[in-house]
Parts: sequence; C-alpha cells; structure tokens
Amino acid sequence: MKIWLDGALRDSESARVSVFDHGLTVGDGIFETVKAVAGRPFALTRHLDRLTRSARGLGLPDPDLDEVRRACAAVLEANPVPLGRLRLTYTGGHGPLGSDRGDKGPTLVVALGETVRRPDTTAVVTVPWTRNERGALTGLKTTSYAENVVALARAHEHGATEALFGNTVGALCEGTGSNVFVVLDGEIHTPPLHSGCLAGITRRLVAEWTGAKETDLPLDVLREADEIFLTSTLRDVQAVHRVDDRELSAAPGPVTAKAMRIFDERSAADIDP
Ligand code: PLP
Repeated sequence: MKIWLDGALRDSESARVSVFDHGLTVGDGIFETVKAVAGRPFALTRHLDRLTRSARGLGLPDPDLDEVRRACAAVLEANPVPLGRLRLTYTGGHGPLGSDRGDKGPTLVVALGETVRRPDTTAVVTVPWTRNERGALTGLKTTSYAENVVALARAHEHGATEALFGNTVGALCEGTGSNVFVVLDGEIHTPPLHSGCLAGITRRLVAEWTGAKETDLPLDVLREADEIFLTSTLRDVQAVHRVDDRELSAAPGPVTAKAMRIFDERSAADIDP
C-alpha cells in the first residue's frame, strides 16, 4: 500500500512518523474520511473546507489544500480499488512531551482503505455518556476519538453497529461516526449543530436534497419516531431497524427509502456536490 507522508508517496510498511508526534502523544490532530468511488473522491471540496475549519479550530496552520488534493490523487492512482475510504490525517507534528506544540510543523498523512457498501439497515444503541455541546473541540473533526471508540465497543456488545449520544441537556445529538435523522408525521428532522454534532457532509447533502428540518429533539424521540436513519460518508443513508430494545418493524420505512434513493441518484450524478 502506498501512502502520502511528508510531501511524497511512500510504502506504508517503511513510512515513519515520529513517536513524539503530537497526534500520537496528545491526540492533537484532525482528520477527514472521504469516500472514493472508482478512484474518484466524493465531495472532496466540502471535506477540504471542513479540514481547514477543524485546523483553525485547533489553532493548527491551514493545511496546504493543493498538496492535499495532489496527495489524494496520487494515493488513489497508486492503490486502485472499486470503493475506498481516503483517510486524511493532519496533526500538530513532532513536539516536546507534554501539551506545548513543537516548531517542526504539522504532519500530513493520506492513506486509503478498501471498503464495501454498508447494509441498508442496522441496529443502534443509546449510551449513558453525553456529548458536550459547548466544549473546545465541539464540532471539530479531531483525532481525539477515544470516547467514540468506547461507545462503539458498547454498541458491538449489543449487536449494533452504532451508538447514539444525547448532549448535556438531554437532546439528541449524533452517533460515534454518523449523524441521525428521525421521521415524525412524514417530516424528516435532524438535530441542529448547536446540539454539539459534527457538521456531517452527508447530513448537509441529505438535508438539502430532502428538505429535512433542523430541530431540537429530546433523546426520547427515538422511542416514538416513525422512522430513524443515519448518515455518514461510509454509511450513506442507512435505516435503523432497532434502537436499544425497540424494533422498527418495517425498516427502511417509506420516507427513509425515498431519502436513500434520492441520495444514491444525486450523489452518483455529481462526484463533488
Ligand atoms: N459525526 C461524527 C462524530 C463523525 O465522525 C462523522 C463522520 O465521520 C459524522 C458525524 C458524519 O459525517 P460525514 O457525513 O461528513 O461523514
């Protein structure tokens, strides 16, 4: 596997990042996961905008987007796969032990993993931990993902593939790696950004393409919603057939099925919407 590191394509087996890189020692970094269909990255411009926003939020220098685009193209060309996930990682770089940043500049790594289309439906669980809607990292796509790793492990223990968080005021927020939508009386709703959720790119596209509304929703809405679905780069639109011990018998329901269809058609027509 060829990856991009420090301005060049390298063999992943021999590529080296410092053991003092702050991405490793203090989780000081940001990332993007970009879907690549037949070697072409989907919605790359939106991902690069979010990468820059995350860098600014963390106080990292703006990433060189020309280099990031070149890196994505080079990695995709060197590793042809039908459906892939580009992983862009951008960290504070080599620094002293402790939280002060060093002066060697950031590290950029672009790697590719092969992936498969997710099943149309999945089970989810809610977790007893909360997303902080007012934290320093809220809304940034940082590499500090350990909380998500813990919650996802809980989901797997219960035969689910995603865990959903509420926030500190009991509002529905998001999943460990996805945004959440609910259908109430035929209308589609998703939590607003002030719930603390990530500004998901799939979330935005689905909201634009289906007319979904941003609504403050209590976590309990998951017990009553007629339909529930998740969105993310790797799930696209995925219906929920079980939340905790509640079965949603006919998933995907009609509104979700329509959202899936619209997303598949529009995203296939425009690789950089
Ligand atoms: N929320 C979190 C915490 C995520 O990590 C992700 C994606 O990785 C999403 C939501 C969905 O965002 P996107 O649609 O841009 O993949």
